[in-house]
Amino acid sequence: MIAPKILISACLLGRPVRYDGTGKPLSHPAIARWQAGGRLVGFCPEQAGGLPTPRPPAEIEDGLCGEDVIEGRARVVENTGRDVTDAFVEGGRQTVEFARANGCAFALLIDGSPSCGSGFIYDGSFSAVRHPGHGVTAALMRRAGIAVYSDREIDALVAHLDGEDGTEF
Ligand code: SF4
Repeated sequence: MIAPKILISACLLGRPVRYDGTGKPLSHPAIARWQAGGRLVGFCPEQAGGLPTPRPPAEIEDGLCGEDVIEGRARVVENTGRDVTDAFVEGGRQTVEFARANGCAFALLIDGSPSCGSGFIYDGSFSAVRHPGHGVTAALMRRAGIAVYSDREIDALVAHLDGEDGTEF
């Protein structure tokens, strides 16, 4: 059986793709093991959607979430006021396509992002106010049947995969 791969937010691999031009590498023993085993596939939805790096920070407006954006009930807006909804939705769609093309049944996405967040996001006021919710890419990935874990849930993903594979890796 071919082991399923894990799509990971590119910034968690340390790639400098975040809005401010930095990465945010995730330090965990499983990351090195998965990389050595060819299990990790890095991807950045916002870059895939055509946004530059660096770019202004963006949030989903009015305390809404990725599902609301997909359904046309909310926009993603930069702190400049520019509407970047289309780029976020396109990036999310491309992430799903990329995951499918690469045999990814799981995703490990950084929390808090209007794209990759899956446990919490920011409320659209650009005042560091969090609320429970998910970003656009996380919502589309879940709709596609891909199991999404946040970076804070990496131990749960390790436990799930170890149980599934029957071996520690
Ligand atoms: S879109 Fe996702 S992968 Fe890209 S910088 Fe934002 S959090 Fe990281």
